[in-house]
Amino acid sequence: MGKTKVVGETGSYGARYGMTVRRRALKILKKRHEKVACPRCGKLVLMKRLSVGVWTCPSCAYTYAGPAHVAKA
Ligand SMILES: [Zn+2]
Repeated sequence: MGKTKVVGETGSYGARYGMTVRRRALKILKKRHEKVACPRCGKLVLMKRLSVGVWTCPSCAYTYAGPAHVAKA
């Protein structure tokens, strides 16, 4: 259970929270799987989140502070 055509990943929330909120959340959740350019090695990678707002590059292990939930604002 989880993904649906209309509400995507937020389908896991069921009928809760309302359409407006779920649509807003989906916009952010979509960015979760986006690759971003590393500030040090410049490679386009899927950043790993160590903690809230702490990201690390899987390629060069560079760790930096960034947005809380997605690697790129
Ligand atoms: Zn890197």
